[in-house]
Amino acid sequence: MKKIFIFLFSSFLLLSRICFPGDDSLRIGVLIKVQKCNTKVRGNYQIMLPYTHQILTRGRNLNTEVRAIEDGIKLGSRKFQVFGIEIIPAKDGYIYLNGRPYRGKVRFINEKGNLTVVNVISIEDYLKGVLNYEVAHWWPIQALMAQAVVSRSYALYMKKVNKDKNYDLTADVYSQVYGGRWGERWKVKRAIRKTEGLVLFYNGEILPAFYHSTCGGHTDSASHLWNIDIPPLKGVACNFCRLSPHYRWKKKISLGKLRKIFIRAGYQVEKIQDIRVKERYDTGFVKSIEMKADGKVYTINASKFRKIVGLNILRSRRFLLRIKGKWLYITGYGWGHGVGLCQWGAYGMALKGYNFQQILKYYYPGAEVKKIIWEKR
Ligand SMILES: [Zn+2]
Repeated sequence: MKKIFIFLFSSFLLLSRICFPGDDSLRIGVLIKVQKCNTKVRGNYQIMLPYTHQILTRGRNLNTEVRAIEDGIKLGSRKFQVFGIEIIPAKDGYIYLNGRPYRGKVRFINEKGNLTVVNVISIEDYLKGVLNYEVAHWWPIQALMAQAVVSRSYALYMKKVNKDKNYDLTADVYSQVYGGRWGERWKVKRAIRKTEGLVLFYNGEILPAFYHSTCGGHTDSASHLWNIDIPPLKGVACNFCRLSPHYRWKKKISLGKLRKIFIRAGYQVEKIQDIRVKERYDTGFVKSIEMKADGKVYTINASKFRKIVGLNILRSRRFLLRIKGKWLYITGYGWGHGVGLCQWGAYGMALKGYNFQQILKYYYPGAEVKKIIWEKR
């Protein structure tokens, strides 16, 4: 009886719905301000004006170069004196950009004489090209489902943030890595289908569902990095990411090399005498470091220090520093900014039998999973 009750209760949670204005399309900036792009369509296609959907021309089989020209867009030898054009393949066709296939349609925009290429795609199709790059497709299905809800929520949040720009997200690590149709895997598609339309909400708004690879023991508060201070993003203890290859790492940098790195970043230093952690947040992440060089003391914010040293060298803001001889020894924990879902933590929770709803509730306390029903206006 208890089991039935729990089942009904969790089904009820799954069915919590919210009507949402707009549609499920996303604009992904695949190429930003480039010189040119090769585009290919097999079969029929249409060329339209973006937003008004006025048809400019139709054709069959396209394989040509697109460029931004002074007063518009040049497609092969054809010139369109407009700020942008859209190429729409016939139903279920793909459009190739520099040899890579994409679903949906593609918008070519003249941005001050440069070409920006935007893939306009439904969010569910977009996620198929994202998840395999963000997590391993062989992970337990509940971890993939949690990631699907998180990536969907993050994308819709960015859509709101960037509504006045030419694109909602880019296709690189600065948003979510998106590889078009090439990135798709069946298990990932299943996780997306099983969570179709499910989005994280907090206080009636889409949650900025930040996530990162590995927190290294505790997630961080969003308020330590950005101007966002809400209960679901305050940080939680995490003992689930210990299986991550990035849980604990070590690096050493010679003080000579470190000096060069600081000079490149604009610091006029001759000799680094000491470098140590100055302040640490209660989440365990470093707030600032202190560097002594040439008798002067510099206090540097930990995020800035991470950027100076290199995001892939200083993989997180959770680290210990120690100078021995001519070397700086770094012992670090985790990889990424540390806010929101810990991906390897989600993997660890799924291995322990937690479902995706439990994983999401753990990493975003107080947030709710709801099914979006689009209300087209
Ligand atoms: Zn973790």
